Amino acid sequence: MQHDENEEHWSDHAICRGADPDLFFPIGYSAPILREQERAAKAICGHCPVTADCLAWALRVGEPDGVWGGTTPEERRHLRRSADAPPRRRLPVIMVRGDVVEDAA
Ligand code: SF4
Repeated sequence: MQHDENEEHWSDHAICRGADPDLFFPIGYSAPILREQERAAKAICGHCPVTADCLAWALRVGEPDGVWGGTTPEERRHLRRSADAPPRRRLPVIMVRGDVVEDAA
Protein backbone atom coordinates (compact mmCIF):
# COMPACT_ATOMS: atom_id res chain seq x y z
CA MET A 1 0.00 0.00 0.00
CA GLN A 2 1.32 3.42 -0.98
CA HIS A 3 1.95 5.90 1.84
CA ASP A 4 0.15 9.17 1.09
CA GLU A 5 2.57 12.03 1.74
CA ASN A 6 -0.15 13.95 3.63
CA GLU A 7 -0.95 10.93 5.74
CA GLU A 8 0.80 10.44 9.06
CA HIS A 9 3.01 7.42 9.39
CA TRP A 10 4.13 5.79 12.65
CA SER A 11 7.74 6.62 11.84
CA ASP A 12 6.81 10.34 11.95
CA HIS A 13 6.57 9.88 15.72
CA ALA A 14 9.74 7.84 16.18
CA ILE A 15 11.78 9.34 18.98
CA CYS A 16 14.96 7.73 17.66
CA ARG A 17 15.05 10.27 14.82
CA GLY A 18 18.31 12.13 15.33
CA ALA A 19 19.61 9.57 17.82
CA ASP A 20 23.04 8.04 17.31
CA PRO A 21 22.48 5.30 14.68
CA ASP A 22 25.32 3.26 16.21
CA LEU A 23 23.02 2.58 19.17
CA PHE A 24 20.36 1.02 16.97
CA PHE A 25 22.76 -0.64 14.55
CA PRO A 26 25.67 -1.57 16.82
CA ILE A 27 29.08 -1.70 15.26
CA GLY A 28 30.92 -3.02 18.31
CA TYR A 29 32.02 -6.61 18.18
CA SER A 30 32.74 -7.28 21.81
CA ALA A 31 29.83 -8.65 23.77
CA PRO A 32 29.94 -5.99 26.53
CA ILE A 33 29.89 -3.10 24.01
CA LEU A 34 27.12 -4.72 21.99
CA ARG A 35 25.02 -5.27 25.10
CA GLU A 36 25.56 -1.67 26.23
CA GLN A 37 24.53 -0.31 22.80
CA GLU A 38 21.44 -2.54 22.74
CA ARG A 39 20.56 -1.51 26.28
CA ALA A 40 20.83 2.19 25.35
CA ALA A 41 18.72 1.72 22.21
CA LYS A 42 16.08 -0.26 24.11
CA ALA A 43 15.94 2.48 26.75
CA ILE A 44 15.01 4.95 23.98
CA CYS A 45 12.43 2.53 22.54
CA GLY A 46 10.96 2.23 26.02
CA HIS A 47 9.83 5.87 25.83
CA CYS A 48 8.73 5.80 22.21
CA PRO A 49 5.01 6.22 21.44
CA VAL A 50 5.15 3.97 18.36
CA THR A 51 6.95 0.91 19.74
CA ALA A 52 4.15 -1.51 18.81
CA ASP A 53 3.91 -0.20 15.23
CA CYS A 54 7.68 -0.26 14.88
CA LEU A 55 7.93 -3.84 16.13
CA ALA A 56 5.02 -4.98 13.95
CA TRP A 57 6.72 -3.45 10.91
CA ALA A 58 10.10 -5.04 11.73
CA LEU A 59 8.45 -8.44 12.14
CA ARG A 60 6.42 -8.05 8.95
CA VAL A 61 9.38 -7.15 6.74
CA GLY A 62 11.76 -9.50 8.55
CA GLU A 63 14.18 -6.71 9.43
CA PRO A 64 17.44 -8.63 10.00
CA ASP A 65 19.53 -5.92 11.67
CA GLY A 66 19.35 -3.38 14.42
CA VAL A 67 17.07 -2.65 17.33
CA TRP A 68 13.46 -2.03 16.25
CA GLY A 69 10.48 -1.73 18.53
CA GLY A 70 12.67 -2.46 21.53
CA THR A 71 13.87 -5.80 20.19
CA THR A 72 17.14 -7.16 18.91
CA PRO A 73 17.35 -9.25 15.72
CA GLU A 74 17.65 -12.41 17.85
CA GLU A 75 14.56 -11.51 19.88
CA ARG A 76 12.58 -10.89 16.69
CA ARG A 77 13.68 -14.25 15.28
CA HIS A 78 12.40 -15.85 18.47
CA LEU A 79 9.09 -13.96 18.20
CA ARG A 80 8.68 -15.04 14.55
CA ARG A 81 9.46 -18.66 15.37
CA SER A 82 6.94 -18.59 18.24
CA ALA A 83 4.29 -17.05 15.98
CA ASP A 84 4.94 -19.64 13.24
CA ALA A 85 4.90 -22.61 15.60
CA PRO A 86 1.72 -24.66 15.61
CA PRO A 87 -0.30 -24.35 18.80
CA ARG A 88 0.88 -26.79 21.43
CA ARG A 89 -1.45 -29.61 22.27
CA ARG A 90 -1.62 -30.90 25.76
CA LEU A 91 0.03 -34.27 25.89
CA PRO A 92 -1.72 -37.11 27.66
CA VAL A 93 -0.33 -37.97 31.05
CA ILE A 94 1.44 -41.32 30.94
CA MET A 95 1.87 -43.11 34.20
CA VAL A 96 4.93 -45.32 34.43
CA ARG A 97 4.98 -47.82 37.22
CA GLY A 98 8.44 -48.66 38.39
CA ASP A 99 9.68 -51.07 40.99
CA VAL A 100 9.93 -49.60 44.43
CA VAL A 101 13.32 -50.31 45.87
CA GLU A 102 13.40 -50.53 49.63
CA ASP A 103 16.25 -48.74 51.30
CA ALA A 104 18.76 -51.49 52.24
CA ALA A 105 20.16 -49.55 55.20
S1 SF4 B 1 10.40 1.85 18.90
FE1 SF4 B 1 12.61 2.33 18.99
S2 SF4 B 1 13.40 1.91 16.93
FE2 SF4 B 1 11.17 2.03 16.80
S3 SF4 B 1 10.73 4.14 16.21
FE3 SF4 B 1 10.62 4.04 18.44
S4 SF4 B 1 12.67 4.56 19.20
FE4 SF4 B 1 12.84 4.10 17.00
